[in-house]
Amino acid sequence: MAKPPAEPLPQKSDIDACRRCELWERATQGVAGEGSRKARLMLVGEVPGDDEDRQGKPFVGPAGKLLRQLLGEAGIEPADFYLTNAVKHFSWEPRGKRRIHKTPTQRQMAACNEWLEREIGAVRPKVIVALGATALRAVTGTRVTIAAARASDLHHSAGARIFATYHPAAVLRAPDDDAKETLMRALIDDLKRAAALASRVE
Ligand code: SF4
Repeated sequence: MAKPPAEPLPQKSDIDACRRCELWERATQGVAGEGSRKARLMLVGEVPGDDEDRQGKPFVGPAGKLLRQLLGEAGIEPADFYLTNAVKHFSWEPRGKRRIHKTPTQRQMAACNEWLEREIGAVRPKVIVALGATALRAVTGTRVTIAAARASDLHHSAGARIFATYHPAAVLRAPDDDAKETLMRALIDDLKRAAALASRVE
């Protein structure tokens, strides 16, 4: 049976104009997802950070650059993935002159979920990689832990397999070089596994 036509991708202008929660008020701009519409792999982070907010692009800060590096080390080409966040406006609190990331509330995540669902409907990935607990919650709609998700065969309602792993920011927060190296290797292995799964699933 032929696949139903894909939905249109939400545009940055749509997200800039969104007022479904209050996060837009203190953000510079909305940050839409980015990548191939034909990607079999969708990677979902939590929320744009300070760099993403200023540049209007996802995964361009330190954690995002690391993720892009690790995707390359895992042999995953840019044409093979789509990158986005569960929440599209920067959530932050002041600390001195700095803007420090603040985990979005459940209400903010629920308000923003329509954008993520529209991206999933447009890209129709075979595998959705949830990067960290907040992304996993947004993708599954439940409070499942990363460990429990990894032990389960979870699927999104659109059919994609859900694969849970660390957020790359966890690597940056590692207490020493050994821990950092261990987490990086684990993340690369997970990205390879997710890509292999995406290439197998019909
Ligand atoms: S964070 Fe999401 S729901 Fe809130 S205003 Fe931005 S786009 Fe809309």
